[in-house]
Amino acid sequence: MKSYYLWTIGCQMNAADSRQAGEMLEKLGFAPLPTAEEADLVILNTCVVRQSAEDRVIGRLSSLKSLKRRKRPASIVVMGCFVGDVATLQKQYPHVDLFLAPSDIEGLRTYATGLVLDQPANVQPSHPYPVSVSIPIMYGCDHHCTYCIVRLRRGPGRSLPLAEVHSEVEKAVAMGAREVTLLGQNVDAYGRDLPDHPDLADLLHAIHDVQGLERIRFLTSHPADMTNKLIATVAELPKVCEHFELPVQAGDDLILKRMGRAYTVAQYCDLVGRIRSCIPGASIATDVIVGFPGETEAQFESTLLLLRGLRFDAVHVAAYSPRPGTPAYRLPDDVPAEEKIRRRQAVEELQKRIVGEINARLLGQTVEILVEGREKGRWGGRTRTNKLAFFEDGRDWRGKLAAVRITWTGPWSLLGEASSTNR
Ligand code: SAM
Repeated sequence: MKSYYLWTIGCQMNAADSRQAGEMLEKLGFAPLPTAEEADLVILNTCVVRQSAEDRVIGRLSSLKSLKRRKRPASIVVMGCFVGDVATLQKQYPHVDLFLAPSDIEGLRTYATGLVLDQPANVQPSHPYPVSVSIPIMYGCDHHCTYCIVRLRRGPGRSLPLAEVHSEVEKAVAMGAREVTLLGQNVDAYGRDLPDHPDLADLLHAIHDVQGLERIRFLTSHPADMTNKLIATVAELPKVCEHFELPVQAGDDLILKRMGRAYTVAQYCDLVGRIRSCIPGASIATDVIVGFPGETEAQFESTLLLLRGLRFDAVHVAAYSPRPGTPAYRLPDDVPAEEKIRRRQAVEELQKRIVGEINARLLGQTVEILVEGREKGRWGGRTRTNKLAFFEDGRDWRGKLAAVRITWTGPWSLLGEASSTNR
C-alpha cells in the first residue's frame, strides 16, 4: 500500500485544503504517515505571507532532498502560496516532482491517481471525523492591500456556487461534524462573482436548515465588505455564532491609506459600533500589522489607542514583512527589526490585559461549549464567542453541546464544570 505525508503551515484555508487533500488521498488508497522519511508521496502545503513562513518552507524543501536518494525515491509535491513562477521554482528545486497552485486539490488528485493505478482504494480513516470543520467557500481575493502577497498567489475572488457549499455542509454533517466554519480570504465578499450574486447572508440562511448542524462560523471578513444585512443575519440566525474576525491592521488613517485598506479608523469604529449595538455580547477579533513602512511612534500609539478603545476579544499581531512583488515592497522598510519586535510585544501585552479582563467577566456564568475532543484528560471546545474552554467529566461529551459553569478564567482559556447537555 502507498503512503503519504502532508506538511501544512499558514492560514485556515491551507489547513482546510490539507484536510480535503488527506481525505481524497485516503479514498485513493494512500495511508497517512506522521513523518516524511518512509512516505511514497510527500506534500508540502506552504505559506509565504511573511518571510518567516517562507524561510520555514525553504528549510523544509531542502531537507527533502535526501528522500530522492532512497532506494524507492519519494514523489514530492509542493502546493500553496510558495508556488509563484513554476519555471523558476523547477530550476531552483529540481527534486520536486510537481508544483501546484494554492488549493489545487484536483491537480493533486490527478497526480496521486497515477501513483496508485494498481492498488485497491479506500483506507479506513485513522482518526474520527472532526466535530468542527472548515469549508472553503471562496478562493482568492479582490482587495489590493499593498503589503499582501496572497492575491498575487491566489488570484482574484472566486466563490463556490451556493448549492455546492450546501452539499459540502450536508456531507460534513453526515460524517459527524456539528460545526462548520465557512472560509475565504474575504469571506464577506462571497457571491459577487456568481450569476445570481447571492451574498454570505443568503448562504447562511441556506445552510441553516441542515439537520444535525449546531453551529456556523465564518472568517475572515474585510471591514469594507461587511454589510448591515450580514450583521442582521448573524443576529437573527440561532446557529450562526456571534463572532467576527475583522482585521483592522492599523489605527492611523494615513497608514491605512498606504496599506490600501479602503476604510478609515472612524469607519472601522462605526462598523464595530453597529455590530455591538445589533448583537450585544458579540465577540470581535482583529489582525494588526506593526512597523509598516514609515509608521511613526505616534502612528503606532494610535493603534494602541484604538485597541484600548475597542477592546477586541483577540488580536493577531504581526511585524510587517516586505513581500517581493507587492506595492509596499518598493517602500523603504524603515522601522528597525528591534523596534518592530517592541511594538509587537506592546500590542501583545496590552491585549493580554484586555482579554484577561473580558474573560474574567465570565466567572460564575454558564456558557455553551461545543465539545471538540479531549486534551490532557479534559474535555475541550469553544464558546459561541470562540473562547477555548475545558472541563473534567467522566461522560463522553465529544460532539455535544455542554452547558459549562465557568470557575476559572485566563487570557487564553477558561475552565469550568459541565452542568448539563443541551443536545
Ligand atoms: N481578510 C483579511 C484582511 O482583511 O486583511 C485577509 C487575511 S490576510 C491573508 C492574513 C493576515 O496576514 C493579514 O490580516 C495581515 O495581518 C497578515 N499579513 C499579510 N501580509 C503581511 C505582511 N506582508 N507582513 C505582515 N503581516 C502580513
